Amino acid sequence: MAPKKSYSLETELVFSKSGDQYNASVPPLYQSATFKQDSLSNMGEYDYTRSGNPTRTHLQNHLAKIMKAKTTFAVSSGMGCLDVITRLLKPGDEVIAGDDLYGGTNRLLTYLHKKGDIIAKHYDTTNTELIKSKINSKTRMIFLESPTNPLIKVVDVKSIAHHAHQINPDVIVVFDNTMMSPVLMTPLDLGVDIQYESATKYLNGHHDIMAGVLATRSDKLAEQLYYVINSTGCGLSPFDCWLLSRGLRTLAIRVERQQQNCIKIAEFLKNVGFKVRYPGLKDHPQYELHSSMCRGYGAVLSFETGSVKLSERIVENTDIFGIAVSFGCVNSLISMPCKMSHASIDAKTRKERDFPEDLIRLCIGIENADDLIDDLTKALLRSGAVRVNERDELFNVIGLQPKL
Ligand SMILES: *Cc1c(COP(=O)(O)O)cnc(C)c1O
Repeated sequence: MAPKKSYSLETELVFSKSGDQYNASVPPLYQSATFKQDSLSNMGEYDYTRSGNPTRTHLQNHLAKIMKAKTTFAVSSGMGCLDVITRLLKPGDEVIAGDDLYGGTNRLLTYLHKKGDIIAKHYDTTNTELIKSKINSKTRMIFLESPTNPLIKVVDVKSIAHHAHQINPDVIVVFDNTMMSPVLMTPLDLGVDIQYESATKYLNGHHDIMAGVLATRSDKLAEQLYYVINSTGCGLSPFDCWLLSRGLRTLAIRVERQQQNCIKIAEFLKNVGFKVRYPGLKDHPQYELHSSMCRGYGAVLSFETGSVKLSERIVENTDIFGIAVSFGCVNSLISMPCKMSHASIDAKTRKERDFPEDLIRLCIGIENADDLIDDLTKALLRSGAVRVNERDELFNVIGLQPKL
């Protein structure tokens, strides 16, 4: 059998050739802002870290393999990625975006729209035909994200990207892959032009740095993105590149374990009678679509309790689950989006978008699944959301269908 041309993702994540002069098994950290030239006329490969740094180059080459991109760029945050991308637009350019994008994405697009820099139009991206009908020759960029969180809406990326490029080959389809990570999804294979991710989440996985990663297969877009990054100075600092390289090596095993735990917790909550949103549950309305695009379901779920007060009590009664925003870290988190990550969206808009005020979001880590379920059970009992019946089974007391 002929040897394979490339390794699997799990192998690529841990395997790297540093090219280091001493063959260091860990890529060295070049914590230096400048690099000396041999002479006035002989400039080396690097001169100034804003423009390039060997630790950043190493990380970016590694990421390119993992994301199946030709070029990737590491910048200071996920929002930094979006800032770089939107700078490719000209005044008055029209963009189409989802109506359930990450709060920070919504904030930046709205800011640019209000300033009159761009015209941003938001639509329900789960309605593929609606989005297709809105794409026209004036559309310059399309911003997609899937699954969204915490509402877990899935977008038909392939069919929207294909349609957009048929209308206009130059339209730039941008995809935020933070929720799936390169382990579970390869958006560039689905026709996306620029993929970006908040590396603060799964890619780094330890909540000790902020970072963002941009990826593309187009040389032209890569050149334009690099121009902005070098001009604005948002390239990721060497130490953070080094930490991200370290986090990245365990990405596959972390996501695998987090997802395993999440599936168990989703089933548990569903069986107790809560309305659970998770793309890995067969009753999710877009289960098939999601499965056709991704290799898994991730580790973020949300559920409704039927009462805001009850949800507050549940959130405040867990021990292992920390009350915090963000996700993708090795430890589990619990939050109430309406009071935390999505508080910046006003109550009226939340209502229009059918955003349940009592929604609880769980971001699952790599702990022992039984410990996590015990922790949730304790919180559900303490809050009064569930009780134990004569047969020692949990049942839901809030009118949602108890299913034992
Ligand atoms: C966190 C997040 C971002 C922003 O990334 P930062 O690193 O926090 O700037 C963008 N998109 C999604 C889906 C996110 O979860």
